[in-house]
Formats: sequence, C-alpha cells, structure tokens
Amino acid sequence: VDEFELIRRYFLRAGGNGADAGVEIGIGDDGAVLAPTPGLHQVQVIDTLVEGVHFPAHLDPSDIGFRALAVNLSDIAAMGAVPRWMTLALSMPHADEEWLEAFAGGLFTAAGEFGVALVGGDTTRSPVLVVSVHISGEVEPGSALRRDGAQPGDTIFVTGTVGDAAAGLAGLVGGSPVRDLVRRFTRPAARVRYGRALVGHATAAIDVSDGLFGDLAKLLTASGQGAELSIDRLPLSPALIANFGMDECRRFALSGGDDYELCFTSAGQPPDAGIVPVTAIGRVTSGSGIVCYDGDTVVPYADEGYLHFREERD
Ligand code: ADP
Ligand code: MG
Repeated sequence: VDEFELIRRYFLRAGGNGADAGVEIGIGDDGAVLAPTPGLHQVQVIDTLVEGVHFPAHLDPSDIGFRALAVNLSDIAAMGAVPRWMTLALSMPHADEEWLEAFAGGLFTAAGEFGVALVGGDTTRSPVLVVSVHISGEVEPGSALRRDGAQPGDTIFVTGTVGDAAAGLAGLVGGSPVRDLVRRFTRPAARVRYGRALVGHATAAIDVSDGLFGDLAKLLTASGQGAELSIDRLPLSPALIANFGMDECRRFALSGGDDYELCFTSAGQPPDAGIVPVTAIGRVTSGSGIVCYDGDTVVPYADEGYLHFREERD
C-alpha cells in the first residue's frame, strides 16, 4: 500500500469524546487548521521515544502507541492544561500492517480517554523506530502550573506511587517481569484531570519522568529553593514492596524514572484528593539542595543508583 493509504487506514479516525472539535482541516491536506478556544492560551509539548533508548525493542506495539501519547499528556498535566490536538511523526524501518494496527490501537486508546484528536503527522523510513508526538493544549491565561513558584514552608506532594515503572522496566529487560510493575511502564496514567485540579492550588508542579529526586531538584532549582524530603514517606506500591527490599524500593522511587506522576508544592492541603492518591513527602526550605530524612535522621542520598537508565537517554 502507498503511504497515504496506510495513513488513511490506520490514523484517520474520528477522535470521539468531542475530540474533533475545533478541527477545521485535519489529516489529508498539507497542514492542519485548528480553531483554538477564544480567550485561552496554548500549551505546546513534544516528546520523542527512540526504540532501544526509551523503550526496549520488541515492546508490544499497542504499548508503544499508548506510551508515546501518555508521556506527552503527562507534560500537559504538569502544566495544568487541557489537551486538544496532536500530531504524530513516525519513523520506522518498514511498514508492517499488523504492527501499525496495534500501535494505532494503543495510541487511540489514550487519545479517546483524554479527548485528543490526531490532526496530522509525518511518516518516514528510518533504520530504527522513532515515535514523536506533539500535543497542543489550552489553559486559561496566567493559570499554567509552573516549576518556579515553590515557596519556603510549602508542602511537597506526589501523586500515586513512585518507583514501579523503573522496577517494571528492569524486570522486563532482565527477564523477570512483574506484571503490575511492567504495566506502570507500558501504560502510564497521565494525571491530566489532577493537573487541572491543581490550577490555583499548587505553587509549582513538575511531572516525574526522570526520577522523583532529580525532577524535584529541577523544580527547586527553578524556584530558587531547597527541600527536606522524607524518604520514609515515599508512596510505594504493594507490588514494589513485595518484590524488592526497602533500600531498592527507595532507590527505584527516587531515581528510577518513567513514573509520570505529578510532584507539586502547595501552601495548603492538596485539592480533591479523592480523584487520585496524594502523599506529602516533604517541605520546601529556603536555600538549595535536597536534604533526605528517614524519620528524624538525616540520610545521605546520592542520586545515581539507577544512572544506567538515565545516562543513555535525554
Ligand atoms: P506532505 O508531503 O504535504 O507533507 P504527507 O504525504 O507527508 O504530506 O502527509 C499527508 C497527510 O497525512 C498530511 O495531512 C499529514 O499531516 C498526514 N500524516 C502523515 N503521516 C501521518 C501520521 N503518522 N499520522 C497522522 N497523520 C499523518
Ligand atoms: Mg510530509
């Protein structure tokens, strides 16, 4: 089949959930023409996943499709925005129809869940699979969640549980996969609705993609503050605790990456905690750097336990 027939077959779908709203010209022309909501500002995010770097080769194509969108939705969530439209740049060694069918299935599962319409893209040949998704979202002027607003005395919170995805990936690569943990890597829950709930409540926010310790450090650096982090309060899942010792759990949780939870700071209580579990894990301090506590005891933590996941990616 020719390239456009392929695109038509696998990527030309109605968005559902009102996702096609505002699409004046979608897939099929030289460019997409979109009608943004009057009065709202746009948020643009893009993330690229390279086979063998960001996910193991031969990962289930439906998981690759889901994850490629979910990691971008997580950035939208961390900005407190509503996702609207996406474009997809797909580079692959050959056009395998079975693969494309499954990939599109995963992609549109995530798209349907969050009401995002696919409005265009690019399809090219390359020696290795590269999936790049761009999302355009919307937010009320002046309302976007930022990294630079944390104040001394704010509480530091994180959604969900941390460490699972990195432990899942390690098991997958190492040949001893734990299903509940692997699923956190393949099907990250983008916290889009919770990100929206944080608008007006959080003083700063970031999504946890590279590891909680390093991502919190980025938020603190942007805010010009430091923090006290209680590593005994890290939210760890039953599946993580059942499969690893406490030191390893904490190392996955702090340095593992791929969680796609939200880490945020707030002067008060977190909003609507019923939507998603939220845990207080520390406090913003004036100064710089993160001081880790286990109970009342200061414990040194070198953020390098899982550098082998990190050094090969950007
Ligand atoms: P052009 O040569 O003008 O760039 P293409 O032949 O690359 O056009 O693409 C034709 C149409 O298909 C465009 O609307 C483009 O946005 C869309 N498209 C191409 N690849 C993809 C893809 N992977 N996913 C979604 N839409 C795509
Ligand atoms: Mg093109």
